[in-house]
Amino acid sequence: MIVPFHVTDLLDRLRARFDAQSVDTTLSAKQGNVARLRPARRATPHSLARFWERILEVTDATDADRDAILDEGTSAAIDAYNANIENMIGTVKVPVGVIGPMRVNGLHAQGDYLVPLATSEAALVASYGRGADVTALSGGISAALTYDGVMRTPAFRFENVAQNGLFVNWVVDQAEALKRAAEATTRHGKLISLEPAMDNELCFLRCRYYTGDASGQNMVTIATAALCEHIVEHAPIKPLETYVEGNYSGDKKASYLGLLTGRGAKVVASATIPAETVERKLHCTVEQMLDYGRVANLGSVLSGQLGTQAHYANALAALFIATGQDAACVSESAVGFTRMESRNGDLAVSVTLPNLLVGTVGGGTSLPSQAAGLRILGLKGEGKRAALAEVAAALCLCGEISIVAAMATGHFASAHERLARHR
Ligand code: NAP
Repeated sequence: MIVPFHVTDLLDRLRARFDAQSVDTTLSAKQGNVARLRPARRATPHSLARFWERILEVTDATDADRDAILDEGTSAAIDAYNANIENMIGTVKVPVGVIGPMRVNGLHAQGDYLVPLATSEAALVASYGRGADVTALSGGISAALTYDGVMRTPAFRFENVAQNGLFVNWVVDQAEALKRAAEATTRHGKLISLEPAMDNELCFLRCRYYTGDASGQNMVTIATAALCEHIVEHAPIKPLETYVEGNYSGDKKASYLGLLTGRGAKVVASATIPAETVERKLHCTVEQMLDYGRVANLGSVLSGQLGTQAHYANALAALFIATGQDAACVSESAVGFTRMESRNGDLAVSVTLPNLLVGTVGGGTSLPSQAAGLRILGLKGEGKRAALAEVAAALCLCGEISIVAAMATGHFASAHERLARHR
């Protein structure tokens, strides 16, 4: 029998370090006081000094590490961060590059965008820059936001399925009152649909909201909490338990529900690259791109990927960090479908992102360097979210074109080696 590698590896590591008794002691619970950090909801010079004193005392960090995290610019602007962080000790500096102009011919995003990308991954900015150049040379990227709606899914437990059914009937009757209760918490949030999903004695209510220019996760949580309070107060059949989120909405995880019905903005983007431009700029033929594209699509399907795409996460993580989006929402946003076809010999490429969560107000969008990132794009503030969503999809498209060309020509490893190792 061939023992799987992960089993033998664990055994080897255990044998090298432990005997039966010491492995037990190592993993067992340890009694004794834990010297907890005293939390600080607001950063003040005093709280920063207090945290750093402790960090320097009990960790490997040095004065130089403190100065790197708590630099002068950050110290001078700590109030600007207070709405976004607890126990603040400074800021981490992520390098930011810029690409473009990326030409977008969108329903909302119209123009040539310089796009800031924050990453520590060499080759990423160069790769997206190549996609932006190639698409701009080809007339740009068409983009459209086709759907909008952020979900929260509160969950309610009843005695049994019959009680649950009666509750759902009541919810359907009371939709307008529930909408009023939710919308009383926000000027911009609108409850646009209410879809009960029953599972025996449990009811999940899929509440979808239009969230204006905010990405909306807090907005929908607060509105849904008010909706739940209304239910608990007025429902003739009281839920035995009520939870503001039943982990059904797909918040911060890739889900089939999000893929099929959308959560956040659903955006499409497409471009057609003339065969001559593919050859001159990407150093391969359209046929080579399509050959690799077919392999990659099958790889996606065989591996059970939600969607079929190469690396939307690279674009979105770098854009999210540069513009104050919630980086954890890359987990759900970076789902979708890339298609490549030959049209009259040219390369037609499109991307579909059903779950994109971005905002141009709220969240981290007003932090100093993140707001600057949005201003570089010209997309800070009211009335800009739909354009940002289209720009994000266009950026994903640039990355798909570039990586498929790199794979098709065998340049993927050499580009990383050149840019990441031999500078
Ligand atoms: P937010 O900053 O909590 O709320 C947006 C704020 O902007 C609201 O006060 C809203 O007022 C106001 N606003 C002003 N002009 C607006 C406009 N044109 N459109 C929309 N709102 C406008 O941000 P959020 O987008 O709701 O939440 C994003 C944050 O939630 C992210 O930082 C994320 O990390 C975090 N998050 C929270 C949860 C959670 O469940 N709590 C989960 C995941 C992530 P009105 O409401 O009165 O319109």
